[in-house]
Amino acid sequence: MTTIFSKIIAGEIPSDTVYQDDLVTAFRDINPVAPTHILIVPNKEIPTVNDISEADEAMVGRMLVVAGKIAKQEGIAEDGYRLIINCGRDGNQEVFHLHMHLLGGHNLGPIIRRRN
Ligand code: 5GP
Repeated sequence: MTTIFSKIIAGEIPSDTVYQDDLVTAFRDINPVAPTHILIVPNKEIPTVNDISEADEAMVGRMLVVAGKIAKQEGIAEDGYRLIINCGRDGNQEVFHLHMHLLGGHNLGPIIRRRN
């Protein structure tokens, strides 16, 4: 399933790309929810985490390595940041091309609130 992310990766539509290599591309989210909001996306069209296979292990590892590199580039590594992958309907995934959100630049608050 081709989404807008494939067109961004191919350079067919504009984006603020901060990193690209043979396995992943990273670009700024069009609708940021934090001072730094970057999407790290495999170049290969994989819809969700459910579609990742063992053959994709290098790519999945690269997503994390690149997240750390970009966090340093953005100057947020020391203060910290959050990585999120939404999956499917209950995860509120909107674009069905696997991607990891890198969020930081201010305190993000708790992501999970416990009900007592
Ligand atoms: P999801 O909810 O699927 O995890 O996140 C999709 C993200 O993609 C959203 O944060 C949304 O703002 C971002 N997004 C959607 N369309 C575009 C686009 O055309 N360009 C960029 N840079 N980001 C997009």
